[in-house]
Amino acid sequence: MASTKQIEELREILEVRKIQIESNIEDSKNNIAQLQNMDCKDDFDFAESSSDSFTSEVIAVQQSKELVEINSALKDIKDGKYGICDMCDELIALRRLKAKPFAKFCTTCREIFENKKR
Ligand SMILES: [Zn+2]
Repeated sequence: MASTKQIEELREILEVRKIQIESNIEDSKNNIAQLQNMDCKDDFDFAESSSDSFTSEVIAVQQSKELVEINSALKDIKDGKYGICDMCDELIALRRLKAKPFAKFCTTCREIFENKKR
């Protein structure tokens, strides 16, 4: 079981990551807005800027998903439920949490989950 101090360290990692992602999302939003406001003088410019805007949107979507996971992990820390697998209620290994602080499943369940998706 992760000690209070270890959880505190992971919480800090999550908080830092959260701030980072929030500013990333803000950046891509600004980017999209900027690209959409740009005067496109010819087709080439348009294709170029719309693909940039698409990339920014994809990044924003991915980051939003991660933000949701981080927020849910932070909530779990507050509720004292952090580090417990969502599927089997077993404790998630600390080294797994260190690699992915917002992990919701233990290694075993993660594999089952990934296999189901395929
Ligand atoms: Zn599990």
